[in-house]
Amino acid sequence: MPEGPSLVIAQEEMMPFKGKKVLAATGNSKIEKDRLINLKLVDIKTWGKHLLFLFDGFSVRTHFLMFGKYMVNERKDTVPRLSLQFSKGEINLYTCAVKLIEEPLDEIYDWKADVLSDAWDPKAARKKLRAQPDMLVTDALLDQNIFSGVGNIIKNEVLYRIQVHPKSRVGALPARKLTALIDQARIYSFDFLQWKKEFTLRKHWLAHTKKTCSRDGNKIVKEYLGKTQRRTFFCPHCQVLYGEGDIVAARKQGANRRKKEEGMSDE
Ligand SMILES: [Zn+2]
Repeated sequence: MPEGPSLVIAQEEMMPFKGKKVLAATGNSKIEKDRLINLKLVDIKTWGKHLLFLFDGFSVRTHFLMFGKYMVNERKDTVPRLSLQFSKGEINLYTCAVKLIEEPLDEIYDWKADVLSDAWDPKAARKKLRAQPDMLVTDALLDQNIFSGVGNIIKNEVLYRIQVHPKSRVGALPARKLTALIDQARIYSFDFLQWKKEFTLRKHWLAHTKKTCSRDGNKIVKEYLGKTQRRTFFCPHCQVLYGEGDIVAARKQGANRRKKEEGMSDE
């Protein structure tokens, strides 16, 4: 599934069409395609894994799901879900979900939750995480309301990088680990973006699809974890498990540890 950075790359590739008039809109999507004809494409934005085409008064939202694909000035043999033709080129979208959105985007999108957005707000993410202490970190990173744009690869790599076991509970993380989780969700996403542009993303993977831990030489384990049961690669040796077993005790432990680290402890 394309993750947030891949959508940013798609958006950048499509920017030459910004301000250009749609001459034809075709494809097997059920949206009212005729509405787009002769309209100017006002802007293209992304929110996490959503690619948004803005027109005057409404937007077209596309979501690439598991096998979505886009092509600029190129075509596949199959019928696109949506194809937008301009005087100098075309955008073709395949195997994606397409929807017309009538509301202003600011009303429905929390830009502060998008890890790649200028509006990204780590404090807001922290607040949302604190409100769900029993959640597994593997689920937290994939939660699009908290970390919009983070997908399975970013999740695996961030947890490896900060040395946190995917089955750790959010509420049991020490403060510095919670901070690292939030910071690296954004930092790794930008690394991903850069490496993807350089076609070196796979080369930089340290946990995802790997067999051996580059830190200690132990075996990387693959398990299907969390609510989504996505492939999770981790090193059980150097990624610390916080909060397994008794959740309440773990939360207390985590809270105490945080208090200490944040200098609020009265001990
Ligand atoms: Zn290791």
